[in-house]
Amino acid sequence: MKYISTRGQSPALTFSEILLGGLAPDGGLYMPETYPQFSDDDLNAMRGMHYRDLAFTILSRLVDESDIPSADLRTIIDKTYRAEVYGFTHAGQNADDITPTLKLEDNLYLLSLSNGPTLAFKDMAMQLLGNLFEYVLAKKGETTNILGATSGDTGSAAEYAMRGKKGVRVFMLSPHGKMSRFQTAQMFSLQDDNIFNIAIKGVFDDAQDIVKAVSNDIAFKAQYKIGAVNSINWGRIAAQVVYYFKGYLAVTKENTQKVSFAVPSGNFGNVCAGHIARMIGLPIDQLVVATNENDVLDEFFKTGVYRPRGSANTYQTSSPSMDISKASNFERFVFDLVGRDSAKMRELWHKVDTGGAFDLKAEGYFSQVPDYGFASGSSNHQNRMQTIRHTHHTYGVTIDTHTADGLKVAIELRKPDVPMLVLETALPAKFEDAIVEALGTVPERPAILKGLEGLPQRSVVMDGDVDAVKAFIVSNT
Ligand SMILES: *Cc1c(COP(=O)(O)O)cnc(C)c1O
Repeated sequence: MKYISTRGQSPALTFSEILLGGLAPDGGLYMPETYPQFSDDDLNAMRGMHYRDLAFTILSRLVDESDIPSADLRTIIDKTYRAEVYGFTHAGQNADDITPTLKLEDNLYLLSLSNGPTLAFKDMAMQLLGNLFEYVLAKKGETTNILGATSGDTGSAAEYAMRGKKGVRVFMLSPHGKMSRFQTAQMFSLQDDNIFNIAIKGVFDDAQDIVKAVSNDIAFKAQYKIGAVNSINWGRIAAQVVYYFKGYLAVTKENTQKVSFAVPSGNFGNVCAGHIARMIGLPIDQLVVATNENDVLDEFFKTGVYRPRGSANTYQTSSPSMDISKASNFERFVFDLVGRDSAKMRELWHKVDTGGAFDLKAEGYFSQVPDYGFASGSSNHQNRMQTIRHTHHTYGVTIDTHTADGLKVAIELRKPDVPMLVLETALPAKFEDAIVEALGTVPERPAILKGLEGLPQRSVVMDGDVDAVKAFIVSNT
């Protein structure tokens, strides 16, 4: 299996060759050259498989034997998907299911993806990436310095995945004083030698701009082996495909049945994995894209117009991990939608990259969107509060604000006879203030995280200055 760029002007590469990077050299995103197909027999064989076996079965079709030998891939997967790593379950769930389902009512389920160390679904892929990075770097005799900017979830998931990994250092920039107390404590309490938290005086975009400036310094980037684990990383998407299969198999008995998924969405990474799952043979009916007030994706799936907003027009909401102005993985779906026409992709993204928009209805592609199962909706703060209350009172389950976005739209769009799985993308303990607002009580927190905010913290505070950040990297490598 080789990976090609959506823009069509970069060489095809293997899984491990694209693992450590981000964008392809031509500015595109990597996609599988062809989609492997899982047949009816394959799906039958998957029924009853443990998550680890399922992950191996799927990922071994996306990674060549000559690239990562299957025995090694197995070891990496077995090391990653263990009950001890994904132990923050709801009452009654089995941690060894890794992504257990929780039935709310007939044909309505949560797919629990947030039982990992940072209580958000990003752990599902990031933990695998940590182990893959360590393996690939050791094999090449290389090291990497991961540089990233975070407003919360991505940074903590990356740090918990990379802590203590040989050959990897993490330099994570965050806006000073702008993350929640819980998120700050989660990241800054890590005492591992290879983790560096840099609090930038400014907002998230200032931190993000520094990361871009450092990455654009080609000489510095090469000398200090600057890497990234951002949401366009193909390894993350590939890892996320697995739980769509797991969820499907958990609520069906035979492959003639279809299910739908509702996905709280920001950068389109999670739901893009659902699209891939569908393309490789999973019987999915609807892929419901749920946004908050930052509804650039909902607008596209309703009108065919993709119109990124710019960071000045991004709202701060009570589901902050979905506060995006453009959806960085969306290009992957459009690549398939336009029939993998890379010249068309260059034309469309030239408009986006110069601050514009495109209209796929006018271009004649929009009528094919239903063939891919996509549907969408959005929610606002009021909707989320109501959904959290409703779920608590009706089912006795407390959900977080992001999952509430998903459930709100799922309830609007679901079909009575098709099971709907709502992807639970964070646990409520991570967003306490919103739960207190909705329910008047503090959500239950896993015992091991009680007192998290009281632990000693490690971070450096810096001005939003590119040279200062570079100097810090130099002096710590
Ligand atoms: C990152 C995140 C999302 C959005 O996922 P995308 O892959 O960017 O669409 C949703 N909910 C939570 C809790 C997240 O951390």
